[in-house]
Amino acid sequence: MTKPPNLHLLPSRVLRVNVGFLLSEGPAHHQDSRLDIPDPIRVADDLIINHISGPLRLSRAKEGILVQLQAQAGVDDVCSRCLTPFERTVLVEVEELYAHPASDFTEFSVGGDNNLDLAPLLRAEILIALDEKALCYLDCRGLCSTCGVNLNEESCTCANHAIDPRLAKLRQLLDLS
Ligand SMILES: [Zn+2]
Ligand SMILES: [Zn+2]
Repeated sequence: MTKPPNLHLLPSRVLRVNVGFLLSEGPAHHQDSRLDIPDPIRVADDLIINHISGPLRLSRAKEGILVQLQAQAGVDDVCSRCLTPFERTVLVEVEELYAHPASDFTEFSVGGDNNLDLAPLLRAEILIALDEKALCYLDCRGLCSTCGVNLNEESCTCANHAIDPRLAKLRQLLDLS
């Protein structure tokens, strides 16, 4: 299952949200929307996501805009057991204050153009999630430690597989036939 290379990556600016309308409102106003981008995005130099979707709430707070996002992002990863590339679903659940005006007390702030950039926030969250190893399937059988075959796709006759002795007997019979 190899995919063609992504020739049409969306730039990270698709992750900018204009919040001018909320800034002109008083605190306690909020807007519910969705972040739905079905195409690959270059979130940062070191991160491409294949798609992302989920509810997004932007709330006017005294100190800026509170971002609450619960999204599922598809990211290319490699199975830690069989080393096969697969698309992994990463859950992003964040709540982050974007300061307005910019402040030294928060990592993120609303830009001078009233845009709030979700890209650095998503990058931070997704890279943390990717630190955790993932399996292509829960019961991935991995690679044979002796001959290296992908045991999901083929079997081998290496001796060191912990085979139930009764199955070994059966295997012997099958091999003879
Ligand atoms: Zn696997
Ligand atoms: Zn083997």
